[in-house]
Amino acid sequence: MDKYRVLAFYCYVNIENPELEVKKHHEFLKNLDVCARVYIASNGMNAQMSFLEGDAQLYMDWLRKDHRFAGIHFKIDPYHEHIYPRVTVKVRSQLVALDCMPDLNKGGAHVSPGEWKKMLEERDENTILIDVRNDYESEIGYFEGAERPPLKTFREFPDYAEALSKKKDPKKTKVMMYCTGGIRCETYSALLKEKGFEDVYQLNGGVINYGHKMGNKHWKGKLFVFDDRLSVPISEDEHELVSHCQVCQTPSDSYYNCANMDCNELFLSCLDCAEKLQGCCSEKCTHATRRRPFEKTDRPKPFRKWYHYGKNKEMKEEHVEYCSTGK
Ligand SMILES: [Zn+2]
Ligand SMILES: [Zn+2]
Repeated sequence: MDKYRVLAFYCYVNIENPELEVKKHHEFLKNLDVCARVYIASNGMNAQMSFLEGDAQLYMDWLRKDHRFAGIHFKIDPYHEHIYPRVTVKVRSQLVALDCMPDLNKGGAHVSPGEWKKMLEERDENTILIDVRNDYESEIGYFEGAERPPLKTFREFPDYAEALSKKKDPKKTKVMMYCTGGIRCETYSALLKEKGFEDVYQLNGGVINYGHKMGNKHWKGKLFVFDDRLSVPISEDEHELVSHCQVCQTPSDSYYNCANMDCNELFLSCLDCAEKLQGCCSEKCTHATRRRPFEKTDRPKPFRKWYHYGKNKEMKEEHVEYCSTGK
């Protein structure tokens, strides 16, 4: 039974006092059955949250009462449990971590899922389709024919954009770009326009929105998400497996964080190999001293801070980065 509702949204609006907004959130959320990761900056908000069904509506109503947030488009998915272990609401200096800040008012044109599908079908050789997510995200799912740059972190995108402007003529190349929920494209499309690309389009609401409206058409595999689910189907349509266990190469789209805390690499594994290597990415890591216990489950979750495991109490203070790629 999917008693929970996962909400994903972002907005770019002027928030004069982000600290105050964080406080108001804590105040309101403490009475609800919710887990969340909400980042608030002076220029907007980015959030992924899970609520017990009715509480999601209470939150949306509460937020929309504030005129600054009245126009937010919430992407809503049912789920059977919370997607985070706790509520995190924090002030961030930037919503998308980059070392530069392009003018977001000059971003690419927003394209609805329906138009996007049509554009995919009518694409010619002067149009490039770019998956602007990190490589470990696009490995388990992507749009057919998409260029998938080998990016490890958000911060690598500007270098990629620079290289792309050398490789393709920015005046003659039409760019279609997409990400998970749309927020990265707001920044990245503005960046590409700064590099001289004139014809830039971004998928409105990202792959999540596309899945809701168009199903799996032209999409292969699953969608990586930065929460306990790690990967989700984008619709109820049948989907194929496009990725493989890194150990034995059988088809798999299950991600694990290496159980060796000093490695923590995010890697794809089948259940058999995960069990054989006790949740480690390699034979070498199985000999490491600082290893988290392995729990056999069909749906591995990103690792928590050590004290959630409650075993080696002396390691309680260890800080394990949550949902880390190990990089
Ligand atoms: Zn395997
Ligand atoms: Zn490892």
